[in-house]
Amino acid sequence: MSCEHVERDLDSYLDNELDAATTMDVRGHLNECAACRRRVNEREALGRLVRAVPYHSAPDRLRARVLAETTRTSSVRRLLTWAAAAVLVISVGGGGISLWRSAATHGDAMVDQVVDSHVRSLMASHLFDVESTDQHTVKPWFLGKLDFAPPVADLASIGFPLVGGRLDYVGGRPVAALVYQRQRHTINVFVSPALSDVSTRADVRSLRGFHIHHWVRGGMSFWAVSDLNEAELTQFCGALEAS
Ligand SMILES: [Zn+2]
Repeated sequence: MSCEHVERDLDSYLDNELDAATTMDVRGHLNECAACRRRVNEREALGRLVRAVPYHSAPDRLRARVLAETTRTSSVRRLLTWAAAAVLVISVGGGGISLWRSAATHGDAMVDQVVDSHVRSLMASHLFDVESTDQHTVKPWFLGKLDFAPPVADLASIGFPLVGGRLDYVGGRPVAALVYQRQRHTINVFVSPALSDVSTRADVRSLRGFHIHHWVRGGMSFWAVSDLNEAELTQFCGALEAS
């Protein structure tokens, strides 16, 4: 049996759908051929990965860990692409397709950066520089650390408590990161002075399983990032805009 034959039958082999004789042939080839064994291992790793990738409601820390694990080696990077496609299919099944707008097609490097920063903050146990549910503690903490005063609102009354803040670096400049919580989901809101005073309506995107809302108000640029479902994140951002 040739490598081409094995590759052609690989999915059926892994799904135990081949007849006994062909299964023996594939096994025989795998004993001899390291390249095909690697292919089988990759395919099995993909299966495990797809099963491990969290559905919409999984905690974002888990998602961050999966992303970190899967981007660690370039050989697995390809698997991640497949897994992302699988997640997309799952999302289509859940009726969420209209919310999936690829940031790549918008070509906005900022979206990439705020998502990276969000994931970093969840992974590195560096979610806070100042941990407090009190906006009157968080707001003054930024004084002297930034050349602007970020507006800090607490939205605990509608179920999005402020839990802290930290300094971050996004888009080539220091920004204020305000951290909000919704059950087990973390929302990072990055605030920095806007290039223009013109207020904009929220621009909504999705990238790598995270939702990103961006708007400008009062001369400040806001980027909210979370794996929270789109409806609740929209509610959160609406409340923050109105605060
Ligand atoms: Zn082979």
